[in-house]
Amino acid sequence: MFSGRDTFPVTTSVNLDGHIAIGGCDLKDLVSEYGSPLYVYDETTIRETARDFVKSFRGAYKDSHISYSSKAFANPVLEKILDEEGIGIDIVSGGELAVAKMVEFPASMMNFNGNNKSRQELSEAVEYGLARITIDSFPEIDVLNEIAGEQGVTQPVLIRVSPSVDAQTHRLTTTGILDSKFGFSIETGHAEIAVQKVQEAKNLDLRGLHFHLGSPLFELDPYTEAIPYVMQFAADMRDKFGLDLREFSPGGGFAIGYVGEKLPLPISDYANAIADSVRAGCDAHGFDEPLLIVEPGRSMVGRSGVAIYTVGAIKEIPGVRTYVSVDGGMGDNIRPAIYDAEYEAHSVNRVNEELDGPFRIAGKFCESGDILVKNAFLPTPEPGDLIALPASGAYNVPMASNYNMVPRPAIVMVSDGEHRLIRRRETYEDLLRTSII
Ligand SMILES: *Cc1c(COP(=O)(O)O)cnc(C)c1O
Repeated sequence: MFSGRDTFPVTTSVNLDGHIAIGGCDLKDLVSEYGSPLYVYDETTIRETARDFVKSFRGAYKDSHISYSSKAFANPVLEKILDEEGIGIDIVSGGELAVAKMVEFPASMMNFNGNNKSRQELSEAVEYGLARITIDSFPEIDVLNEIAGEQGVTQPVLIRVSPSVDAQTHRLTTTGILDSKFGFSIETGHAEIAVQKVQEAKNLDLRGLHFHLGSPLFELDPYTEAIPYVMQFAADMRDKFGLDLREFSPGGGFAIGYVGEKLPLPISDYANAIADSVRAGCDAHGFDEPLLIVEPGRSMVGRSGVAIYTVGAIKEIPGVRTYVSVDGGMGDNIRPAIYDAEYEAHSVNRVNEELDGPFRIAGKFCESGDILVKNAFLPTPEPGDLIALPASGAYNVPMASNYNMVPRPAIVMVSDGEHRLIRRRETYEDLLRTSII
């Protein structure tokens, strides 16, 4: 019995051969054609999710802008799809800008976040004409003001504030607390100084405030706690420095289902809670309703991607456990190693067989911490079996490395029975291209 209905892409089915199929494509056939490990993205899930975001947020708050945080999976084909769906793009580096440029992503739909953007990166972003840049440090105010001056433009900006809210997620993925490298703290008074400085900067147009609490957030409370606090701050800044709050962003961080036992709230729940909270703040402080900008990364693409691995060595340690090693691991998915992230493992080619276990799914990289799934239940694995890990669409491939000089996997996009390579598997030549002897 297939138990991945809530974690796999929406088009997932089990075909007559007892194999998992996504977008009408048999995953075993895809591996035969493109090799292993393989990442498969489902276009239907991406489009349905994008539409759900637009519908949920515009339904709850008319003047909403959805800006995909492209660090979750910066890929030109994906960005083209999102552009077609009316979604904008957030970048955090010049490299992510280059990806957006590759598909001529409209600059009017783009924002630049990050706690330490270089002069070069800022300059490229201003030149491309980005709709907004989110300022995150004092030096950045001066540098960006200078760059805009040199290029003869007024650059619209937001200020990233830190509301001292602990989002109750992993300590490495909470970003809105006082002790964080991100944002200007409201609590310490730095956010106030930043507002004053940006208001004074002649080539910057301060359009509003931004914060981001961390990820993944399964609860609504962090948002509904932080929003009133930041709105109060906005009102204070209006009174002191004439801040005109035309834009307001509570960031992203919306959760996805990595395992069936821990599923997220529907997007509309986040939308309603955020919209109600922003509106209440506007009423309380007499603001016109600003443009609401949300920046989903993980939740836009996480569910659409699946990682497929081939089983190799199997090692049974009597009385301890059985290690089932696969041909990928921390090189293509470092999340279990750094965040203790949990995943489900499913058999691709023996879906209807009885489950056994637990098995420990280990990667092939030379680190004991290279474990993908601690306790997986599968039909007793045999070398050559294929294993799929759902919810692998965000922060897997983008965080991939060439540790152990292992080429990074290929990526395929599926839709209506069609499949196309959107990133080819790396070769040894790719790995050696930058070496100089
Ligand atoms: C990473 C990031 C996001 C997206 O976070 P997700 O958890 O992927 O939704 C949004 N805004 C900012 C500023 C970020 O750094």
